[in-house]
Amino acid sequence: MNIPSYVARNARKYPQQEAVVEPNARHTWAELNQRVNQLANYLHDEHGVDFGHRVALLLPNNFAFIVSYFAVQRLGAVVVPVNVRLATPELEYIIEDSGSDLVITCELTDAAIKPLADNGTNVIWMDNIDDLLSGLDSDEFELNVDQDDACALLYTSGTTGKPKGVLFNHNALSAVGTMFAVEMEYKPTSRILSLMPFTHSAPLNLCLVGGTMVGATHVVAPTFTPDLLLDLVEKERTTHFFGAPVAYLLTAQHSDIGNRDLSSMTHWIYGGGPLASEHTNLARKAFRSDKFYCVYGLTEAGPTGCVLLPEEHGAKAGSIGKRAAYNTEVRLVDDNNEPVPAGEPGELQLTGEGIMLGYWQNPDATDDTLTGDGWLKTGDIAIQDEDGYYWVKDRQKDIIISGGVNIYPREIEDALAEHPAVLESAVIGVDHPEWGETVRACVVLNRELSDPEATLKEHLKPLLADYKIPRQFMVMDELPHNANGKVLKHELRELLD
Ligand code: ATP
Repeated sequence: MNIPSYVARNARKYPQQEAVVEPNARHTWAELNQRVNQLANYLHDEHGVDFGHRVALLLPNNFAFIVSYFAVQRLGAVVVPVNVRLATPELEYIIEDSGSDLVITCELTDAAIKPLADNGTNVIWMDNIDDLLSGLDSDEFELNVDQDDACALLYTSGTTGKPKGVLFNHNALSAVGTMFAVEMEYKPTSRILSLMPFTHSAPLNLCLVGGTMVGATHVVAPTFTPDLLLDLVEKERTTHFFGAPVAYLLTAQHSDIGNRDLSSMTHWIYGGGPLASEHTNLARKAFRSDKFYCVYGLTEAGPTGCVLLPEEHGAKAGSIGKRAAYNTEVRLVDDNNEPVPAGEPGELQLTGEGIMLGYWQNPDATDDTLTGDGWLKTGDIAIQDEDGYYWVKDRQKDIIISGGVNIYPREIEDALAEHPAVLESAVIGVDHPEWGETVRACVVLNRELSDPEATLKEHLKPLLADYKIPRQFMVMDELPHNANGKVLKHELRELLD
């Protein structure tokens, strides 16, 4: 099997079942398969796309994205999903770095892509898929695509530096999709709501690929808003949603959430970052559900990793669980890859079939990240408690070293989350002449405080050792997030320098 062959199979098994539901259109598996075949033939015949070529997809979550994704892979080519919110230079970097011969896009991205199109980048506009494809040959493209052939090049969102291309083959993606289908109990009757951009590995591989493997329905919309989330859950009776923690925090504050019928939802899934236990409680109350699943992973792992189940959230909310997800293994090791004892910090490492082949044209970074015997170094520092649960303390790169002592920003962010006026926070290290670095907290409040700094310091005092209490506080209207809802700490550091 290769990834697009699941679309063809679904078209045979469930031709009239809904494959994709957009806010204003519905498409069956038969229709999706026909469009995939037509676009594959068109790309091959008119644009010369062939085995191994890279094709960038600059589209929001819609039918055109899904058709293009599978069509490119059906040709044995490699899909390069690119976020529609990128500016021209960021876009140019990814197109060049990946060596993409072609960009499939739509009007929405005009401002960013136009300068490149004017300079010779080959672009297809997919605003009206019917106009483009109607009447074209819909025979299945004949090509022997192997499990081991590369099929997706995903760029990390660059929260810690310049985006890197992460390469996967069909085998890895089907391992990741299977893992999630098993963990999240996908069925052909599941209705998966995808509002987080398919350009990130989690919505793409866990929701689009995993859901397609079982023939579930994809309910999609081009962007996330709390309104849209609540409307679509209610109207489309969706069963699964994956979102970044901030998506839950914002929706939990929606004034109408208490009046909405969210009863169809069996899996509220969050990941990409922690949801502090206070915030988990807040979300469970607002969503009137205890069906919260935490998933931990990273693009380089597919993202496979660990899962914290709803029944574990009571005592262990804030941890990432105690076991690796289906078909994956996890270990905690020191710098020599030796196991560390419970309670001691170490690096989380993952192994399984979903792990990347490597970084695109970057053998040094690949060697630094893969151990050579199948383990991926995540760069996340964690401890394992006496019950075996893993607690991510922080990303190695975000750790603050003040006066020679390691400070984990997440510990401070979790303590800040316990204050009812704190909606979100990000703690960073800023240069200090004496200490090397000092701690600065950037905080978004959900209500006014007359003296935020004094109030929050007072709140932190009983929770944290003195040296961890931020020396500087910045109250902000909002934190800079990337398209996946992650706080861009490097922007905060630059912003506040
Ligand atoms: P870049 O690698 O370029 O910085 P990125 O941060 O967006 O981009 P991802 O692969 O999306 O890349 O991020 C993975 C990281 O997110 C993990 O290494 C971990 O630090 C964090 N993370 C993911 N899920 C969780 C979770 N459930 N709890 C805590 N941290 C998480």
